[in-house]
Amino acid sequence: MKLRPRQDIGTIPWEPDTYGNSHLGFPLEVWRPARTCKLLIHAGIHGEEGETTFALSRALRLLSEPSPDCAVVLAANPDGLIRGTRGNARGVDLNRNFPTRDWRPDPVTHRSTLTDPSDVVLSPGSAPGSEAETTALIRLIEELKPEAVIALHAPLACIDDAKLGPLAQWLAERTGMPLVADIGYPTPGSFGSWGAERGIAVVTYEFPLTTNDALFYEHVPILVDLLAGGVSWS
Ligand SMILES: [Zn+2]
Repeated sequence: MKLRPRQDIGTIPWEPDTYGNSHLGFPLEVWRPARTCKLLIHAGIHGEEGETTFALSRALRLLSEPSPDCAVVLAANPDGLIRGTRGNARGVDLNRNFPTRDWRPDPVTHRSTLTDPSDVVLSPGSAPGSEAETTALIRLIEELKPEAVIALHAPLACIDDAKLGPLAQWLAERTGMPLVADIGYPTPGSFGSWGAERGIAVVTYEFPLTTNDALFYEHVPILVDLLAGGVSWS
């Protein structure tokens, strides 16, 4: 696919559909593919990881036509993104709110920086799938039926896939980052566990701790290749 010239990449060239609304009422937006959805890439499920939204948006804006087979969600947690919080506006870590066998009602913790202990507390929700953003994303995936989903996160610098599947292997090779079967700590109610329990190939693509410019040069081209539909992993 021919890429747009740099002077044109200031705007997203196509309008998205709305797949629901956040708790605060912001639209949950999806840029649909031109044909059948083979892959879904979503960013910004953690509102403190705005670089994932930036990088995926840049990749989308470089395309000269809609992706043939990849759906794009730039902001899975718009309330968290506008408030700069990891969780949504109700203080829920959406990546611990999915209806999985291991979902637990206990508070969940995360690190405030890569070098700090995991001691910042959020809620996993009042019940599995209690949050509007979670249920809307589930419904979207049930409708699109992608073969695989890539969840963008930062800044752990790895490719995480419990099954070490072919898409994860391709991403590890392209990014030069390690492929891991597990992030190293429990993540009850995570999107990855939800997908695994339903036979959906979910790959967590963790950007490194770096600048937006470095992401643009090192990771946006990989996202562009995925969106352009030229990658065959199955
Ligand atoms: Zn994250």
